[in-house]
Amino acid sequence: MFFESLTQRFFSLLEVFEVARVPLKFRLRGLAETFVDDIRCPTCGHDGGEEGDQGFVTEYTRVTFDGIIVVIQCEPCGNIFVPSEQKLGVINSNRLRDAVEKDSGNTGQPVYSNKEQVRLEVERLNAEKGSKIH
Ligand SMILES: [Zn+2]
Repeated sequence: MFFESLTQRFFSLLEVFEVARVPLKFRLRGLAETFVDDIRCPTCGHDGGEEGDQGFVTEYTRVTFDGIIVVIQCEPCGNIFVPSEQKLGVINSNRLRDAVEKDSGNTGQPVYSNKEQVRLEVERLNAEKGSKIH
């Protein structure tokens, strides 16, 4: 009886723990997936609150030959950054490459082949944003 209730308590704690610690997860089915565990804005220190992703916008996320590079904009301060703690998984690199090239052809967006190129693009976006404010 004691063990049973202990186990139940343990499981209910686990669920709460999981809900509170949901990482950002991006998936392109059959191609690639990326997990981001901990996010903290390098400019203002915003950490996404209890859910870990509050006040963060991910619309600048890019798909590259190396996988999905998560790009985050911090709503409190407007800074755009590439979280360093992201786990990239590539499921099928040939198909991923095809998909990236096809998407570039369809959208007219440039191909980003790796994280470094995305980082440079993010720097450019931040600089552009800065010059608009002034
Ligand atoms: Zn911030």
